Amino acid sequence: MKTTRRNFVKTAVAGALGAAVVPSLVGSQTPGVSGGNAYDVAVVGAGVFGAWTAYRLAQAGRRVALLDAYGSGNARASSGGQTRVIRMGYGDQEIYTRWSMRSLEVWKSLFGQVGRPSLFQEVGVLWMARGEDPLTTKTLTTLQRLGVVHERLGRSELERRWPQIDFGPNTWAIYEPDSGFLTGFHAVQAVVQLAEATGVEYLQEAVVPPAGKGPLDSVTTRSGKTVKAGTFVFACGPWLPKVFPDLLGERIFPTRQEVFYFGPAPGDERFRAPAMPVWVDFAEEIYGLPDFKGRGFKVAPDRHGPTFDPDTGTRVITPETLAAVRKFVARRFPGLKDAPLVSSEVCQYENTSNGDFLIDRHPERDNVWLVGGGSGHGFKHGPAVGEYVTARIVEGGKLESRFSLATKQKIQKRAVY
Ligand SMILES: Cc1cc2nc3c(=O)[nH]c(=O)nc-3n(C[C@H](O)[C@H](O)[C@H](O)COP(=O)(O)OP(=O)(O)OC[C@H]3O[C@@H](n4cnc5c(N)ncnc54)[C@H](O)[C@@H]3O)c2cc1C
Repeated sequence: MKTTRRNFVKTAVAGALGAAVVPSLVGSQTPGVSGGNAYDVAVVGAGVFGAWTAYRLAQAGRRVALLDAYGSGNARASSGGQTRVIRMGYGDQEIYTRWSMRSLEVWKSLFGQVGRPSLFQEVGVLWMARGEDPLTTKTLTTLQRLGVVHERLGRSELERRWPQIDFGPNTWAIYEPDSGFLTGFHAVQAVVQLAEATGVEYLQEAVVPPAGKGPLDSVTTRSGKTVKAGTFVFACGPWLPKVFPDLLGERIFPTRQEVFYFGPAPGDERFRAPAMPVWVDFAEEIYGLPDFKGRGFKVAPDRHGPTFDPDTGTRVITPETLAAVRKFVARRFPGLKDAPLVSSEVCQYENTSNGDFLIDRHPERDNVWLVGGGSGHGFKHGPAVGEYVTARIVEGGKLESRFSLATKQKIQKRAVY
């Protein structure tokens, strides 16, 4: 075997991880592309869902190609933001609490492996509530049942711990000290780095939406390459309706979401960790993160925005949303009343009708998997999604019905937050 530098690095890292070194590592250029032997699996989309799926499949010994049109964690992708919250609280939707718990463990382990533990910031998550708020009350029960470390804090304790927050009508909160945030696109790119080291062939290629019916034996790329595989996973996030317009055009709803970063005054430590946790003001459908590395105090409305095209949509915030967010900030965080906007992002949620993920086989193409529908909360679950999809492809087994295509309606009625 001719040891190129790339192969050496791949083999060394894969060995260190105890992962299988798959045949595609050895020597060849790009095996399933334009005439070579087929890959076992081609994963289309290197966002958080596709990257984790490709990585896990390679660890299971599969020969995997991972393709992305714009690059993993690109600025258009839903996984392309600077930061993403990881929390355990999900009301009584226990499956997501369990997946968050598992995913946090796996994220931390992966960041340790790549020598970048700071890609997860354990700053705590504070979920504010008012009165009998049913979702937060159910969250409390679930966290207790599953043994998630948390505190239930009353108003006076909240004011004592976080005097820089004016809690307004919020009367209590759940605090998860072990949760926090992941550093969005850096985290995904770390997964792809490890996936490549484990044998995944990463190709920056845009896949042409496949035509016809029946099992798929190849896809073509816009540059004219053919990629052959036994199984295909389409993890195209908000692009899924474009890739499968007949099937998903009315079942995945990409919405425009604006994110704002306000700059605290120099030397003001009240709005960065450890003084400030991640916070959620559920009743006002808004959440935010502490200032991280001087990038600003993040504030993001969670209410669904208008329909958005991930390829061509303009990613500039609107003055109306900025004004509304400023008003909220002045009320809830008076110390930031006059803070300048230092940065902003426009991203998109890829919502299913109720917020449950879509993980199912294509109904007319048995070897094609549809993986997406992160619905504004999917990032944290990347590791669990990767494990679940890999297990279904490698071992088979029962599919979770709430992820099925059949449960995805054409009218939005959000139930998972
Ligand atoms: C503003 C905002 C805030 C969010 N906050 C949180 C949060 O705090 N916590 C949380 O857990 N989640 C959060 N989410 C949700 C989370 O980011 C998404 O659910 C998740 O990133 C979706 O990942 P994905 O892999 O499905 O899609 P994507 O990341 O969009 O990846 C899809 C990839 O497919 C590629 N692709 C598409 N079509 C093709 C093609 N034809 N050929 C090749 N490649 C293709 C794209 O280039 C892209 O890279 C947030 C989302 C947004 C927008």
